[in-house]
Amino acid sequence: MSDARGHAVHELTDKDREARHWQECSHPQCEGHITHAVTYEYATGHASRTAVARRLVCVDHAARFANYHEVPIEPPRPIHRSTMDESVQQINLDQ
Ligand SMILES: [Zn+2]
Repeated sequence: MSDARGHAVHELTDKDREARHWQECSHPQCEGHITHAVTYEYATGHASRTAVARRLVCVDHAARFANYHEVPIEPPRPIHRSTMDESVQQINLDQ
């Protein structure tokens, strides 16, 4: 966690919410409906490489994440189709 950075929170679009209405908040022991996505970057150990993790969370945990990391809750935007939930995507910082 200490290497994590690039924290961000945004609302899900209505379309993304409807498509995942069956999904629960990814916070342990929370069964809230997902309303927001939280993302953060972390170093993978490879020079110049970082991974982006995303979690879908309820409104309560989105607010806590934003408050804890002191970031604003951003307006709805579509989540990237190329990234699977709960997985990481490699990006190259040299671009
Ligand atoms: Zn939750």
